[in-house]
Amino acid sequence: MWRWDQGHLPYFQFDTIRRLSELVVASDFKTYDKNDLFNYTGLEFRAPATHTPWRNYARVIKLCLLAYENNNRILPTRLANLISQPGRVTCDEYFHFLVRAFTDSSPAFGNWKPPDNPRYPLLFSLKYVLSKYIVSGLPATIAEIIGAYLSSGYSGDETDEEFIRISQPLNTNEQATGNIQHEDEYRQAAESIRVISQISYLTIVSNSVLISLDAADAREIFDSLNPIIGPFSNNRNTEIERLASLYACAVDDVNLDYKNTSLDETISSGFIEGGKIERTHITIERNKNLINEFFRLKPTSICDLCGNDTSRMYPWTDRIIDLHHILPLSSGTRAEAHGTSLDDLVAICPSCHRAVHRFYHTWLTQNNKRDFDNKDESVMVYGSIRQNIYAERQWF
Ligand SMILES: [Zn+2]
Ligand SMILES: [Zn+2]
Repeated sequence: MWRWDQGHLPYFQFDTIRRLSELVVASDFKTYDKNDLFNYTGLEFRAPATHTPWRNYARVIKLCLLAYENNNRILPTRLANLISQPGRVTCDEYFHFLVRAFTDSSPAFGNWKPPDNPRYPLLFSLKYVLSKYIVSGLPATIAEIIGAYLSSGYSGDETDEEFIRISQPLNTNEQATGNIQHEDEYRQAAESIRVISQISYLTIVSNSVLISLDAADAREIFDSLNPIIGPFSNNRNTEIERLASLYACAVDDVNLDYKNTSLDETISSGFIEGGKIERTHITIERNKNLINEFFRLKPTSICDLCGNDTSRMYPWTDRIIDLHHILPLSSGTRAEAHGTSLDDLVAICPSCHRAVHRFYHTWLTQNNKRDFDNKDESVMVYGSIRQNIYAERQWF
């Protein structure tokens, strides 16, 4: 059974996972009440009044490998400790690890038994999407991925030839008819694919998972994706602790230094130095599918900061405008029920974009930080740049 925790998508957003990590590190999660949770995550508590936050979100927290139970206490994993440090773990590093660690069935659920032949449904999903893209350049639909998982019987650790065999466009119809036993299972599987679409080079548009990488980068990532293996523990809590403790040595297995995200260009245009945490950010801002989707739904040539209409200034062009991602530098795009959220992106002109990242750099340095703590902080800093520019314009 490919189970997930359906209906809690906002809790799986990387920015929220970061806050949940801070919570599990600060205190026993069982000591928190609904108001604590609301104040900290900003997310409404929709469970019945009799439910405690732990009862309601234990699955989210365990699926994310943030905490485990020991003698009736909730203890943070080593992974939660790392995520709670600003700028320490990027969205891409985290989700590539989770994809490699998540098994069917999972120790997040009560019926855990160490599997004899473990299957890795999220690893399968990512490798399926990558191999189909490498071979044909085509995106895969969520239904097709789930169908291929069920009908192939693959574990997720198969070779490129094996994946290419099942992801040929000709086989697509056959795959989609894979036997999905329960509607519930399908919904849960689909939601877990939406969760990993927070990876910076993925975009979900109307149930299709699109990739924005060049083929060589896609190939390199495919080749480096291996499962996090056993020995599995009989005890589900010990198993969660074990998996999470492997993060630090497994994180460098996957090379996330996408070549199409040239850091030279990044640094010369005023982005902060240091490499790792801004890589996710820049990849999102250059994600071609995301850019196309953004301008398809919100066609504009006007800069959100200086208000210049770039198509009037430069009438021989369509628009000269960048996408800026407002969330913390290490965060991915948010996943929503129908696809990738465009709400955290703004269209700004290249000059303002440079200026924004210079401002970020200065602000973070002055505040002795490597990254913004969370979404609110990044929105606040972006807002103050905007105010500055508007105040300046009053003089003209
Ligand atoms: Zn501008
Ligand atoms: Zn930007």
